[in-house]
Amino acid sequence: AVGIDLGTTNSLVASVQSGLPTILKDANGNSLIPSIVYYGQNNIKVGHEALSYLSTDAKNTIVSVKRFMGHTKSDIQYRESLPYAFDDDSDDIQIKTEQGLKHPIEISSDILKKLKDLAEVSLCGEITGAVITVPAYFDDAQRQATKDAAKLAGLNVLRLINEPTAAAVAYGLDQKKEGTFVIYDLGGGTFEVSILKLHKGIFEVLATNGHPHLGGDDFDQAIVELIKHENKITQLSHEDKRALITHAKCLKENLTNDASAKTVIKLSGGQEIEFSLDRDTFFKLTHDLVQKTIQPIRRALNDAQLSIDSIDGIVMVGGATRMMHIQSEIKAFFKKDLLNDLNPDEVVALGAARQAYSLAGNKSDQDLLLLDVTPLSLGVETMGGLVEKIIHRNSTIPIAKAQEFTTYKDGQTAMSIHVLQGERERVSDCRSLANFTLTDIPPMVAGAAKIRVTFQIDADGLLSVAAKELSSNKETSITVKPSYGLSEDQISNMLIQSFEKADEDKKIRALSEAKIEGEQIILAVQNALDKNSNKLLTQKEITGIQSAIQRLSAALNSNNPNLITEHTKNLNTLTESFAAKLMDESVSQALRGKSIDKVNF
Ligand code: AMP
Repeated sequence: AVGIDLGTTNSLVASVQSGLPTILKDANGNSLIPSIVYYGQNNIKVGHEALSYLSTDAKNTIVSVKRFMGHTKSDIQYRESLPYAFDDDSDDIQIKTEQGLKHPIEISSDILKKLKDLAEVSLCGEITGAVITVPAYFDDAQRQATKDAAKLAGLNVLRLINEPTAAAVAYGLDQKKEGTFVIYDLGGGTFEVSILKLHKGIFEVLATNGHPHLGGDDFDQAIVELIKHENKITQLSHEDKRALITHAKCLKENLTNDASAKTVIKLSGGQEIEFSLDRDTFFKLTHDLVQKTIQPIRRALNDAQLSIDSIDGIVMVGGATRMMHIQSEIKAFFKKDLLNDLNPDEVVALGAARQAYSLAGNKSDQDLLLLDVTPLSLGVETMGGLVEKIIHRNSTIPIAKAQEFTTYKDGQTAMSIHVLQGERERVSDCRSLANFTLTDIPPMVAGAAKIRVTFQIDADGLLSVAAKELSSNKETSITVKPSYGLSEDQISNMLIQSFEKADEDKKIRALSEAKIEGEQIILAVQNALDKNSNKLLTQKEITGIQSAIQRLSAALNSNNPNLITEHTKNLNTLTESFAAKLMDESVSQALRGKSIDKVNF
């Protein structure tokens, strides 16, 4: 099993070997694989082999496809500035290449295929599964697109995990009991900060913040500006600009190890520039850029309602965090030593590899990380054939949620609990998982019993459902396996259906709920009339109420939720004084102000 850091600019694959997470290398010794795919007329090249096509055939050389994942064309506002030809026919992103139209999922899957091949050659065997990392802010569509790309590449996805979580896992933070950690990720072009809370083996993302256009490149640019300023350069050719950036990057990286750095730049016009830079000057020059990363940290802390003192560890991720002044200023800000002894380019892939190793069954149950989510919602059947969701899909497991229900009929002594899985509103559109009955409910009037239904999913996805009547503490429970037995395709189908039928489902629920409310008020009013009407109401009032009941009954047959609600309201208003009289007569002060269907006789 391998861990894959599927990055915007570079990707890596790692696996645990002899107990140690290790980055896998290709035949040339490369571990960082550029996330670039070239679609030529006769061939497809990925990674380093695609790099050279960036300058010769940019239209067919796709970079940063991660930014397109799970998006539609209208989401990509900077489309015009890209060198690609997009297909105009749909809002789906499709790039016209020499190999035909390419969807981001396909492009991403070509990168994953490359990583899979690299790993299989390096490990001399087939990969059984992969843990793939995604940014913490990735939404459902972006995560699903990543999963689809992996499937297309023939990879068995053991789990998608958040990049900051993987970084925390790489440092073994998951082995601690509790803690709150900051993951500071400064790459070439982006900055992300995440605050993670570890609780019983689960990392919860409390807050994320960042800067989409702040990274090591900005430090390079600052040096470029200094070179231009000192040498009074105002105009530069495209080629010279590139050369200057390359030299600046080199100077910056050298200053990580050395107190000063020197270079000679040959411009295309023949001019030679000798330039040297010391750490102090570089630190002063780029101090503001470092400070720019502090603001998002403050915002994230604020969002998570945390103070600096409550942070237990800071993990440094991304090549640019090697810069010494970043290290010292972040350390000073948090007043704590940083977790920075792993290679910051590799830490995400290393964490993913550790997670893959655990998930592939190499560790005991206690060590297994519990980071999964439920693929579909789980709930129970309620009146009118509707489903009340108790645990919503994408909830992190293990999880326990409870909800209270009540009886529908006077004297009801049993309640049937029908457990369902799915996103649709109607029982008939969801998957039935189990049925059981809670018996021996003490007889009470309808609506008086309190039945707490608790859903609990353990780390393996095992669901147990318990129903308890709270006055008698009588309890019945059952165990079901919710996520097993459904293939990924079935799950996707159920999700697609739920999106497509959302409007229709809403109408069905509105009608069903209106009907239940209408039927219940008729039942309650009829009951009250039978028992008490003679002494409390005039004949005129009785006739009025009875004709309101008839109008509501007719409305109930109309299948028009608005009409039913209107007549339910009428009957409710008309019986308000009847309810008041009933209260005055015999019921306690506490019930005053309720309409008749809420009063227990
Ligand atoms: P990443 O996107 O995480 O690969 O980070 C790339 C950035 O890290 C680039 O701006 C690199 O110049 C920068 N970087 C890589 N190595 C060093 C180093 N030794 N010192 C400073 N920055 C570095």
